[in-house]
Amino acid sequence: MKPLPSTSGYIIVGAGFAGAATAWALSRRSHSGGVILEREFSFGVHASGRNAALSKLSESDSLIASLAWRTTSHIRALEESPSEILRATGGLTLCDEPHIEEVDAAFAVLQSQGIACEMLTAQNAKMRFAFLRDIRFDLALWCPEEGVVDIHALLSRYLGIARRAGFTLATNCAAEELILKGGRVVGVRTSQGEIFADTVIDASGAWAGRLGRADSPLPLQPRRRHLFVSGQLDLVGASDPFVWFEDPALYFRAEGDGLLLSPCDETPSAPGIPPTDPAAAELLAEKLARHAPFLGDLSIRRQWACLRTFAPDRRPLIGPDPALPGLFHVSGLGGSGMMTSAAVGELAADLILGASPDWADAAQVAPGRFHSPARQSSKSSLQAE
Ligand SMILES: Cc1cc2nc3c(=O)[nH]c(=O)nc-3n(C[C@H](O)[C@H](O)[C@H](O)COP(=O)(O)OP(=O)(O)OC[C@H]3O[C@@H](n4cnc5c(N)ncnc54)[C@H](O)[C@@H]3O)c2cc1C
Repeated sequence: MKPLPSTSGYIIVGAGFAGAATAWALSRRSHSGGVILEREFSFGVHASGRNAALSKLSESDSLIASLAWRTTSHIRALEESPSEILRATGGLTLCDEPHIEEVDAAFAVLQSQGIACEMLTAQNAKMRFAFLRDIRFDLALWCPEEGVVDIHALLSRYLGIARRAGFTLATNCAAEELILKGGRVVGVRTSQGEIFADTVIDASGAWAGRLGRADSPLPLQPRRRHLFVSGQLDLVGASDPFVWFEDPALYFRAEGDGLLLSPCDETPSAPGIPPTDPAAAELLAEKLARHAPFLGDLSIRRQWACLRTFAPDRRPLIGPDPALPGLFHVSGLGGSGMMTSAAVGELAADLILGASPDWADAAQVAPGRFHSPARQSSKSSLQAE
C-alpha cells in the first residue's frame, strides 16, 4: 500500500460519481493534484456501481435536465470509440391520461434545451416500437438522445484522467475527522494518517454532510431503491429504448437476455448497503399488473438495493460549506448522479477555483440554501497544532 502524502492540493472524500467527476474536472483546470479517499476496497462500491445506468433527459426539473444534457456531451467527448460508454438507445416515458401534465412538463423542458423529442399517441408509439404492443398507456414521450451508460467504464475514465493529471486514489482509507486551524478546514484525519490540503471536498454519497458537522448535518436523506434482473425474456434487446412509466412509477430496460426493472421504491434508510425487502418485489408485481399484466409471472434472477441521497428540494448540493471555510460539498445527487456527473464535477471545479460559470445558477445548488447556523462540534473536528 502506497503511503498517503502529508499534503495535497485537494482531498476528495468518496470515489463514487461525485468524487470521481470532481477529480476529473479539477484535473482539466488545475495542476495542484489531489487525493481521493475511499473507505471501501475499490471505487464505485455503493450507488455509483450499483445503479440502473439510465441517462434520462426527460426530467421536469430543468436544472437536472440541463446537467444531464451537458453530461451527455462530455461523455461523447470522453469516448475513444462511438457508443463505447453511452449507448444511445433512446428512452420512452409512458403515461396515462391523468398524468399527462407531468410528461408535458418534461417535454417542454426538453424542447427548451433543444433536445430532440416527440410526443406520440399510444397507437403511434406501438406502431413504431412493436414491443409496446401489450403495454397499457395513453401517451409516450420519445427522446432519442437518452440511453444506457457503461457505468464502470465512465467511472474508470474519470479516475484514469484524474490519475494521469496527478490525483491519487487511496482505497481502504476512511476520512474520520476534519482538521481545523483558526476556524478553517485544513485537512483530514484518516484511517491511514493525517493529510493536509487547501480544500477538502465531501463527496461521500449517503454519508455526506456529516464530516465536521456532527451537531448540524446538512439535510440529506438516503432512500433505498431496489433493482431486479429477470430471467430470460423475449421482449427487448440491447438496442431498444428503456421504458419509464409515470405514476405509478416503474422502469425497465434490457439486461442480458432479460430485463432490469425497478418499482421506484424510496424508503428512508441509514447509510450503508441496505438489505433487500420482500415488500419491494410485491410492489414490483403490483405495478407490473397495472402497466404490463403480461409480465405478471416474471421470474427474478437477481435483486439488490442501494441508496439514493436527496436534499429536501431534490437538487444537488454543490458549493462551499455555509459555516466551515475550506470545506466544499458535492452531494445529494439523488437519482441522477450518474447521468449528471460530468456537469456536476465541472460546476464543482469552477466554484472551487473561484470561477462563475455562465451555464448554471450556482445559487440553485448552494449548500447554504438550507443553512441554519452550525455549531462546531468538538468531537467532529481536530484543532491543528
Ligand atoms: C437503485 C438505483 C438506481 C439508480 N439509477 C440511476 C440511473 O439510472 N441514472 C443515474 O444517473 N443515477 C442513478 N442512480 C443514482 C446514482 O447512482 C447516484 O446519484 C450516484 O451514484 C451518487 O454518487 P455519489 O458519488 O454521490 O455516491 P456513492 O456512489 O455512494 O459514493 C460515495 C463514496 O464515498 C465513500 N465514503 C463515504 N464516506 C466515506 C469516508 N468517511 N471516507 C472515505 N470514503 C467514504 C463511499 O464508500 C462511497 O464509495 C441510481 C441509484 C440507485 C440506488
